[in-house]
Amino acid sequence: MNTPFTPAIPYYRAVGDECELFTHAYKNHLPLLIKGPTGCGKTRFVAHMAARLGLPLTTVACHDDLSAADLVGRFLITGGETRWSDGPLTRAVRDGGICYLDEIVEARKDTTVVLHPLTDDRRILPIERTGETLEAPPGFMLVVSYNPGYQNALKSLKPSTRQRFLALQFGFPPPSVETEILIAESDVDPATAKRLVALGERLRLLARQDLEEAVSTRLLVYAAKLAVGGLPLAAACEAALVEPLSDDPAVQSALREVVRAQF
Ligand code: ADP
Repeated sequence: MNTPFTPAIPYYRAVGDECELFTHAYKNHLPLLIKGPTGCGKTRFVAHMAARLGLPLTTVACHDDLSAADLVGRFLITGGETRWSDGPLTRAVRDGGICYLDEIVEARKDTTVVLHPLTDDRRILPIERTGETLEAPPGFMLVVSYNPGYQNALKSLKPSTRQRFLALQFGFPPPSVETEILIAESDVDPATAKRLVALGERLRLLARQDLEEAVSTRLLVYAAKLAVGGLPLAAACEAALVEPLSDDPAVQSALREVVRAQF
């Protein structure tokens, strides 16, 4: 007998009740906004929840050139014929599943026009170019994320858009949880994981003054992986923490000081 194929659920260590909240949002057909700094687990969380709920996941990394047509679709000319090609949002609405728009504030402003009717109780996607209006099936959920940290006034979500979503605030996990994550993600020994997490805490204090962005869980995982591979910790921290965090020589030397003091 064939056993049905079930894809593995990506590892995600919950910090609070975010998994329950996501499930309730999905069951109630409500869209979700996840706020938080880069590398704190937003994308992993969405991948984990999609797998847990048995839903296909479409992820779109938004950028400043991304337009409504990129999300919805466009007419393409192939072999002399013009045919409609669905964009990722339209495909997700047709098929059901989760559509995750990562860093939504980066996208062009015309994208809000297509998101609004999808995020209220109509749950429709009007496709202006074809005259079609799609109704989202119960299995469709829209999830968006953004990083409030490095937005300027021009790049934040308008209240009329953000008030259409349930919202979850993510931060860096508390030290004991972050240590667990490092161990699970890299197989690093618990003592080194603890030291890297303590270093992360110190670097985050520094971030408030000198850095645009705090050191992420992602970077700590990278450092742990390098250490597991046999690279000395100082070199691992240089490549995974100091260089990615800043280009400014003065800031880099301050970071190195903190690393040296820790190891
Ligand atoms: P974001 O989408 O917030 O920028 P990611 O979800 O890509 O960040 O997380 C970056 C990395 O950090 C992941 O690949 C994973 O290794 C690790 N990570 C962060 N938080 C968690 C968590 N709660 N559980 C498991 N892994 C995590």
